[in-house]
Amino acid sequence: MAAHIPRMPGDVLETPMFGLMQDRPLLISSMLTYAATYHPRRELVSALPDGTIHRYDYAASARRIAQLANALVAYGIRPGDRIGTLAWNGYRHFELFFAVSGIGAVLHTVNPRLFEEQIAYIVNHGEDRMLFVDASFLPMVERLSPRLPTVEKVFALSKDMNAIGEDYEQFLAGHSEQFDWPSFDERTASALCYTSGTTGDPKGVLYSHRSTVLHAMGAAQKSAMNLGCDDSMIAIAPMYHACAWGMPYLAAMTGAKLIMPGPRHDPASIVSLITNEGATFACGVPTVWTMVLRHLAEQGGSLAPLNRTTIGGSAVSRAMIDGLADHGVRALHLWGMTEMSPVGTVGTDTPEVLAMPAANRADIRAKQGRGQFMVELKIVGEDGARLSHDGEQSGALWVRGPWIARSYFRRPDDDLLDADGWFPTGDVATIDPFGYMKITDRVKDIIKSGGEWISTVDLENAAVAHPAVELAAVIGCFHQKWEERPLMIIQPSPGQSIDHRQLSVFLDGRVARWWIPDAVEIIAAMPLTATGKIDKRALRTRFADFRFPS
Ligand code: AMP
Repeated sequence: MAAHIPRMPGDVLETPMFGLMQDRPLLISSMLTYAATYHPRRELVSALPDGTIHRYDYAASARRIAQLANALVAYGIRPGDRIGTLAWNGYRHFELFFAVSGIGAVLHTVNPRLFEEQIAYIVNHGEDRMLFVDASFLPMVERLSPRLPTVEKVFALSKDMNAIGEDYEQFLAGHSEQFDWPSFDERTASALCYTSGTTGDPKGVLYSHRSTVLHAMGAAQKSAMNLGCDDSMIAIAPMYHACAWGMPYLAAMTGAKLIMPGPRHDPASIVSLITNEGATFACGVPTVWTMVLRHLAEQGGSLAPLNRTTIGGSAVSRAMIDGLADHGVRALHLWGMTEMSPVGTVGTDTPEVLAMPAANRADIRAKQGRGQFMVELKIVGEDGARLSHDGEQSGALWVRGPWIARSYFRRPDDDLLDADGWFPTGDVATIDPFGYMKITDRVKDIIKSGGEWISTVDLENAAVAHPAVELAAVIGCFHQKWEERPLMIIQPSPGQSIDHRQLSVFLDGRVARWWIPDAVEIIAAMPLTATGKIDKRALRTRFADFRFPS
């Protein structure tokens, strides 16, 4: 009989011979212990809602995290219980990240920018026992509280409390600053983050200690974020969106300084935090950098000593890459998903790319980047067959790896993976011979015009290179002859205007001529989702009755 060849997790060799190495579990508490032991004086800096700055070091943070862990256990929080947060990036949120997961409970970071209905759904679906809430969200939680039956306690993370918020500091007070972190199975759930798909209810991605530690080790690599204890990281991406792309864990695991901007996301505050606190590394969505670059253009100023930032969540335009380069900052395109913890690809250079002429290098840097160690990528055509990595053929993008979801929380009937364990990302992409992936669309956004595909991402990127275009979105609208044609919706830069003719002239030569939108609509404010992406669903509703001029 032919030998059984194991293919899937759980499959074992017929006669396994195990290695003789220690089987220490990969646990989040070990990151904190490492930071407190080897980088006790490295700082954690938080911009608070009242405009002041709070700073302490890993040693002081670890003592308070131990107090919080003791307080949670004394209250009766048990392994597996969900603890919710509705909070900005700040030191108390950081403390919750480590205390809650460290005792084996599950940190549920709720996105406070979602609609109240969604927040109620998410807290109830997660069955959170406690909520830790920043002052600005307390009135909302108070309104929702009659509809949150599982929530026993609400704690206020900032001083201004209202009727329902108990004081976080009092909860910690009097508890020991020592905590003997338990050891348990590394596959234990550590954090829960809901992703609001464009259809249906939000879905919970349940991270594990193992996936979190492996993700941080992968993301810290030189091929990705290249992080070390000499870095000062500013986590502009919110801690409620895929755990700020792993920043709290990455900071502790590398001993880097961590800067948390709290609710202050205006460009002036971000720029002054970067310069005053000496940030060398940042992460954030493109909208933040659009605002920062405009602020610098209008007010002057510098981003020094920032030398690189990962940007993801939606596509980064060439104009943004060039604008940041003018300030000495290398924009590293990052692609990922909440379901991927979130890092999938990062646009770092290989030696081959460094050796290319500048124009080719710029083309490659504008792509979404290379798959990271442990993240497998495949693109498949409509017939399900794998497409080659020639940089031309585009198809549905699937991923596989140890920090990628295999199913959603409490949705056992959803059959997510294919037979070989691949996860469908919903993105459409090409992969070139150098391994660089380029997102051409979301499966549901793609436009098919007269049987040919039009990449909305490429069109949007080309349009935002025009100085009068602040934000651009393309949606497909019904067309009598071509079935679908692109409609471009533009939010102009402040004080500027642009029309269809000017845009068409600008796009000519930058995209295929038949891609050029047949119509342009100008709107004052682009609708954005709770994670700062252009809300195409809202645009589709708004322009549902749109008809191209005949
Ligand atoms: P989320 O789970 O909210 O982080 O959304 C994940 C989705 O955002 C991906 O499936 C992509 O469609 C999109 N996305 C993330 N990063 C990028 C990027 N660098 N370029 C284009 N789209 C991106």
